[in-house]
Amino acid sequence: MTRVLVVEDDPQLVRALVINLQARQYGVDPAPDGATGLRIAAARQPDVVILDLGLPDMDGVDVIKSLRGWTRVPILVLSARRASDEKVAALDAGADDYITKPFSMDELLARLRAAVRRTEAAPLTPAAVLVATDDFTIDLLAKRATRGGHDVRLTPTEWHLLEILVSNPGRLITQKHLLQEVWGASKSNKTHYLRVYMAQLRRKLETNPAHPRYLITEPGMGYRFES
Ligand code: CA
Repeated sequence: MTRVLVVEDDPQLVRALVINLQARQYGVDPAPDGATGLRIAAARQPDVVILDLGLPDMDGVDVIKSLRGWTRVPILVLSARRASDEKVAALDAGADDYITKPFSMDELLARLRAAVRRTEAAPLTPAAVLVATDDFTIDLLAKRATRGGHDVRLTPTEWHLLEILVSNPGRLITQKHLLQEVWGASKSNKTHYLRVYMAQLRRKLETNPAHPRYLITEPGMGYRFES
């Protein structure tokens, strides 16, 4: 049974989540605040965490940081806030995905399934070094990209960027994270670098670079590789 820890202080929403999750054979542990959530996480080792960012006792981002000190459990953030800063902070702290309130239960369940699937598919020591799509193949070990049977020439910077994205399929990677990883902390606000390099990658890999199918932009947030 997949165990879900729900850290949320809105009792009505908790009730709706518990009913919907239990109906789909999930085991659910509700926690009304961050401290309780952290305690239950340590005691019960959930398979996935649903976490509200606005908690009565502590900031949800600090809950993520605490969890990431010892576990890689997938964390799906619930955010009532429109400000993308909050979501970016949550993703940078180590959340896997976010969903903005109000949300449909179907969407939440789909994202939950995807988060669980990703951990099952991505063991801690990555064995999958070959990422194959319908249009191109990336060999992470040989550092080789091919499209239509031909090698695609990538610059070291393009490669580094692509490597991070394809190693995290389906997962939103923030602009800040990509900039820090590829260009260093001092360039973490140079979002135009990303626009330029992502455009180059799309030209080299996508069939229709203007309407990318694999290298997806999440406006104001970051990028996502969809296999
Ligand atoms: Ca709340």
